Amino acid sequence: MNAPEDKGPIVGIDLGTTNSLVAVFEGGAPRVLETGGASIVPSVVRYEQDPAAPGGVRTIVGDDAKARAVEFPGRTISSAKRLMGRSLNDARADLPYLGYEVVEGEHGQARARVVFEDGSSREVTPQEVSATILRELRGLAESALGRQVGRAVVTVPAYFDDAQRQATRDAGRLAGLDVVRIVNEPTAAALAYGIGTRADATSGETVAVYDLGGGTFDVSVLRLTPSGGEGGTSFFQVLSTAGDTRLGGDDVDHLLVSMFAREIRALMDGEEPRLQVAGATKERGNDLSAFPPSTRRALKVFGESVKCRLSEDDAASVRIEINEGMVYERVVTRDELETMITPWVERTLGACGRAVRDAREHLGSGGVDAVILVGGSTRVPLVRRRVGEFFGVEPYTALDPDRVVALGAAVQGGILSGEATGSLLLDVIPLSLGVETAGGAVAKLIVRNSTAPARATEMFSTGVDGQTSIKINVLQGEREMVEDCRSLGVFELSGIPPMPAGIPQLEVEFLVDANGVLLVSAHERRSGKRAGLQVVPNHGLTRDEVERIERESFTHAREDMTRHRIADLITNSSLDLKWIGERLERFGDRLDAGAREDLVAQIASLRGMIDRARADWRSVEPNALHAAKETLDRASVRLQEISISESLRGDAEG
Ligand code: ADP
Ligand code: MG
Repeated sequence: MNAPEDKGPIVGIDLGTTNSLVAVFEGGAPRVLETGGASIVPSVVRYEQDPAAPGGVRTIVGDDAKARAVEFPGRTISSAKRLMGRSLNDARADLPYLGYEVVEGEHGQARARVVFEDGSSREVTPQEVSATILRELRGLAESALGRQVGRAVVTVPAYFDDAQRQATRDAGRLAGLDVVRIVNEPTAAALAYGIGTRADATSGETVAVYDLGGGTFDVSVLRLTPSGGEGGTSFFQVLSTAGDTRLGGDDVDHLLVSMFAREIRALMDGEEPRLQVAGATKERGNDLSAFPPSTRRALKVFGESVKCRLSEDDAASVRIEINEGMVYERVVTRDELETMITPWVERTLGACGRAVRDAREHLGSGGVDAVILVGGSTRVPLVRRRVGEFFGVEPYTALDPDRVVALGAAVQGGILSGEATGSLLLDVIPLSLGVETAGGAVAKLIVRNSTAPARATEMFSTGVDGQTSIKINVLQGEREMVEDCRSLGVFELSGIPPMPAGIPQLEVEFLVDANGVLLVSAHERRSGKRAGLQVVPNHGLTRDEVERIERESFTHAREDMTRHRIADLITNSSLDLKWIGERLERFGDRLDAGAREDLVAQIASLRGMIDRARADWRSVEPNALHAAKETLDRASVRLQEISISESLRGDAEG
């Protein structure tokens, strides 16, 4: 029998305007391939004269080409995707933004002219540039997989026309790749989330994919048509698409840069820097042009890094030494950035409105069922918030927005090669999901084999007085202790006002939706603080692994139970010891001497057992530990009574 694997895997390629990636579907899940820690290849090619190379020219692709693009503007080609399958006429609006020369080739097609330092030049088609990038990705995939790669699924924007799609196929062929399918980027994003990969897919499900990258924005509304049978795959229909090919994260960088430039100018001119800045972009050119190119470049890089920091933090401090004795220093807050970029975000929502209107007759009254965020700029918190508000659903962010498209292309590749059948594309949750509790034990919220969608909540509290933040470790697996489970992610709920241990009311909710995406949210009721996390639990998990985990949970069941029990006893006894110790300190002199000594001895004994249990849980018998705790609790009854009457008196007086 000729197994399809003989031809090697079908990799998935996201051939992006700015960045490209390659992924593969293996062992039940897609993953992005990398070599030497690098997975993202900037879609930039530099041409270099080299007599030893075929045709006298060699190419440098990716990071190096991007980093030195400003040094070699005439022979570094970026954004070739903007020219793919287009005539010079169609591409005219894009030309001012490209650093290189574009000329008319055969049939009016746009081509890049690469100009070398000696004045000689050569014309390259966008297909050739893309082929060079694809060849690089193919090489990356082959070295990551240790085998030959000859077939690929390549993604294109939903709005690409036939000529643009054909040009993409041609690029693949030039790179020695058999492009087995061209897939729309939004469709790939949906596949990455497992939408449409289940046999029980619901008819008429609609998905909006919001893709905000560096220089382009598009939004598509897709409708899923289920296969209606075993083995077959569902397909997606693009109901509508809208966007702006001149809108992206670069605009935000420009806003920040022009603000810095303006303020630095003011400082140099001896004025007070104006700290109150609205998004005035008109003077940008004037302000920026006052600086030499090297400074402008540095400012651009700097602006982008400040923007990215503000996706994580509430404020970023900026300090630039202008010249001796003169320092430009200020703090940029997230609020300030949000004010500045509000019109920019609203423009994207305008396009979302058009896409929804165009899809209206298919959408009915229900609106979209899911929203997927794609592209690096969707890490901006304001973008996430506003998109969620616009569509009225919490957008999917579980997968890295830079990788979603490549992952989905790999899923499509896996479906086509047969690798994706028999994988974990199920409607049951194969392994239990829970959180870490005190002492390294696991509290399971959703047990394995539950059917999706599933929801569970549980209340937790703090273990230490005055604790203002709580780490929530989300776990998957059947064992009782954290170290024997798989951590799906950790997040922190902070800003809780200091309270005694046990007083905060932390509600943790687990929701696995119909697509198998897990949304964890934590909410502290007294302070109203919230935090959350999204993950796709089945990613990175093979069927074999699930079976192994199940087997191990049986083998270790007894031991695990003991361990879990000891962990709980340690936690509870520690709280008791603390409480009793404090009361003994304050009211001990009210007990008679015999009772006091008795209590002190029992405290020492329990503390000793706990210390031993902490060092090695096997060294302590859980029943003995339990008994010691009970004995102490009984012996401290009198102390509790005194403490209660004291506190009542305190209230009455106070
Ligand atoms: P493209 O689709 O154009 O190839 P990407 O999807 O790779 O682009 O997105 C690149 C953009 O994402 C850049 O503008 C980059 O600054 C922005 N970006 C990346 N990480 C962050 C972040 N943490 N916060 C804000 N913007 C980010
Ligand atoms: Mg992109």
